[in-house]
Amino acid sequence: MRVDDIQKIGVVGAGNMGHQIAVLAAIRGYKVGCVDINEKQLQKAREFAEKYLPGRVAKGKLTEEQARQAWDNLEFKTNMKEALGDADFVIEAATEKLELKRDIFRELDQISPPHAVLTTNSSFIVSSMVAGVTSRPEKVCNMHFFNPALVMKCVEVVRGPHTSEETAKLAMELSRRLNKEPVELQKEIYGFLVNRILSAINNEALYLLDQGVASAEDIDSAVVNALGHPLGPFKLQDLTGIDLTYHIMMERYRETGDPADKPSPTIVEKYVKKEWGQKTGKGFYDYSREQ
Ligand code: NAD
Repeated sequence: MRVDDIQKIGVVGAGNMGHQIAVLAAIRGYKVGCVDINEKQLQKAREFAEKYLPGRVAKGKLTEEQARQAWDNLEFKTNMKEALGDADFVIEAATEKLELKRDIFRELDQISPPHAVLTTNSSFIVSSMVAGVTSRPEKVCNMHFFNPALVMKCVEVVRGPHTSEETAKLAMELSRRLNKEPVELQKEIYGFLVNRILSAINNEALYLLDQGVASAEDIDSAVVNALGHPLGPFKLQDLTGIDLTYHIMMERYRETGDPADKPSPTIVEKYVKKEWGQKTGKGFYDYSREQ
């Protein structure tokens, strides 16, 4: 299959990532089938598109005709076969649980046309952990978007040992058609590129905080003003959720048994106190007044 042959994109999951990937693909001219097991989530995704598209028209980013076309391109359903049965390229963005993703890939393999490429947007699960349940491992790879997917330009395309040259090339070309700046990883590695670099920064920032070298505010200020990052590591963790940091580190520690992978004392303390960041009103910073 060539990139020009892709007419319809399937998106599995209409959560944080899935709904934005679906709207992005629809704006870029693709028919989109988006499936979620949760009807409420689909309704939220529909409502998002209903508001977002006219908003882009008001800002002069889309014409009325383009917004109408994007809306017409979108289909939100709870039945996977109905939504994705004729998709040429699928991006799975369901909950980050391995067994769930394996079940989804098994089903996708059964309902998708033989030429369809199946990718996962997982942040940490490499595609070799799901490719084996399909009859087309050469057509499986990671395609990792960043949050918010409508805005962030990077996509990590990760080749597994099973991924064909053609599939990796197609995922790169499709990312460009979606107006992204993709990067290709020639082999699988835990955390890919971006989350590895981010973890290194976060771990060092936490080490400095735990050693009492500087406050979270001053470490954030240094990273913003010296390195030019838009957000410091503590502000960013408050945004993405300290519970997420905790779970990711614990999961990694269970896998490796390496004490260096354990969450730092500060992360454990904040996790136990439910100081998870913006979502609970307090993390490294206090948001209670903003709620
Ligand atoms: P989310 O919890 O917001 O959404 C997941 C959605 O999947 C939910 O709406 C859920 O109902 C749906 N779902 C669960 N089982 C399903 C099934 N069998 N079929 C269809 N839908 C199903 O999660 P998210 O933050 O959007 O993350 C989705 C994926 O994207 C994960 O693999 C995550 O690692 C990855 N990711 C997340 C981020 C982020 O910042 N949140 C960034 C990049 C990648």
